[in-house]
Amino acid sequence: MSKAFILLVRIIFLVVFVLLLINGKLLLWLALFSLSLILAVFFGRIYCGYMCPINTVMMPLSQIVKKRGQPKDAPKWLVSGKTAWVSLAVSVLIYILTRQLLHKSVPVLLIWLIIAVAVTLRYKPYVFHNKICPFGVLQRLFARSPRFSQYVQKAGCDGCRDCEKVCPAEAIEVRKDEKAYIDRQACLQCKNCEIICHTKTIQYGHPVDHSFIAGVK
Ligand code: SF4
Ligand code: SF4
Repeated sequence: MSKAFILLVRIIFLVVFVLLLINGKLLLWLALFSLSLILAVFFGRIYCGYMCPINTVMMPLSQIVKKRGQPKDAPKWLVSGKTAWVSLAVSVLIYILTRQLLHKSVPVLLIWLIIAVAVTLRYKPYVFHNKICPFGVLQRLFARSPRFSQYVQKAGCDGCRDCEKVCPAEAIEVRKDEKAYIDRQACLQCKNCEIICHTKTIQYGHPVDHSFIAGVK
């Protein structure tokens, strides 16, 4: 899959999201997200990598921020990652309360998109993906051990670390054995690593070796 094709898919989903938002039909997007959770069990977090409007906006923004200086790591209070569950609980609460009291649906996803932009201006993208995003935390839950995922064919890896540098979720790590390992739960299936890998050793599919780890970051 080429970079241009992936970009096109992301833009199409972003346009669909904007159209649904304008027409007040974001419930349909919620249905799409629910379906993606089932897909995540088998195919990993393809929603995050291809469909999520937040990630589509964050990707170019994080590149611009990176060029202007080194964005920061997660602050201490965010390190555990439990904040993402708080984000989810608050989102559900706001949605239910506004429906009950104001008879209106708050566009929760739009609010999180604005927060994601603010966070990306200061921190590395993994901070939002892994520590804050309420949608990401659900995707992580369902993509605990997907049958298909990006994986590293260890024999071909020379440990150059190029893949580490382009991973928005810090889901790939070169370990002491000079081989890259992917955390399937954290992986957004975005293919950045596959595209940059000069040995062509990263692929999407059912892994034949044990090049996975849990909890890189
Ligand atoms: S870019 Fe490829 S060769 Fe380099 S460390 Fe990653 S998987 Fe290994
Ligand atoms: S491991 Fe590769 S496919 Fe997964 S999020 Fe990182 S760069 Fe994207």
